[in-house]
Amino acid sequence: MFEKAVLIVGGNKGDRNALLKSAVEAVSELGEMTLRSKVYETEAWGGVAKGPFLNQVVEIKTAYSPFELLAFIQQIETTLGRKRDEHWGDRTMDIDIIFFGDRVIDTPELQVPHPFIAERKFVLVPLAEVLSEFIHPVLGKSSQQMLEECEDKSEVWELEG
Ligand code: ADP
Ligand code: MG
Repeated sequence: MFEKAVLIVGGNKGDRNALLKSAVEAVSELGEMTLRSKVYETEAWGGVAKGPFLNQVVEIKTAYSPFELLAFIQQIETTLGRKRDEHWGDRTMDIDIIFFGDRVIDTPELQVPHPFIAERKFVLVPLAEVLSEFIHPVLGKSSQQMLEECEDKSEVWELEG
């Protein structure tokens, strides 16, 4: 069975453009890529990381389970130079699962929908670009509505190309 998974891909260390391209390319091996947002530059979030991030939201139609997908995206992060101790800090690559169909998963290793979607403009801006009508399976709100209600004041710029 195939399901649609929505991922956010990005980082703020090294050659951000090249790393993002490589990560999206690697993610496209995990299923058919059905949506791809523009690339956005965003202020670092959470007060730990310093430099601005590049972020992109993609959707893939995949036969993998959510936990298999998590293992694969962690492999991609590691391949692209991610050290696992960079939680919320500067990092070459972070790939998070935003949605997996309308499944709700709540385990220590994996929470889906991603717990902070509604609080983070750097997620909501690209998400609303490609999936404005998609309803968050727990909050019952569309991406567009979450973006309109979001109080995150950080800047998110759309990049050219
Ligand atoms: P963060 O993305 O929160 O800044 P990390 O990338 O270091 O931090 O991830 C920490 C842990 O978060 C991972 O080891 C993973 O098990 C867990 N995790 C829980 N839910 C998710 C999700 N939806 N997507 C990706 N990782 C998740
Ligand atoms: Mg992560």
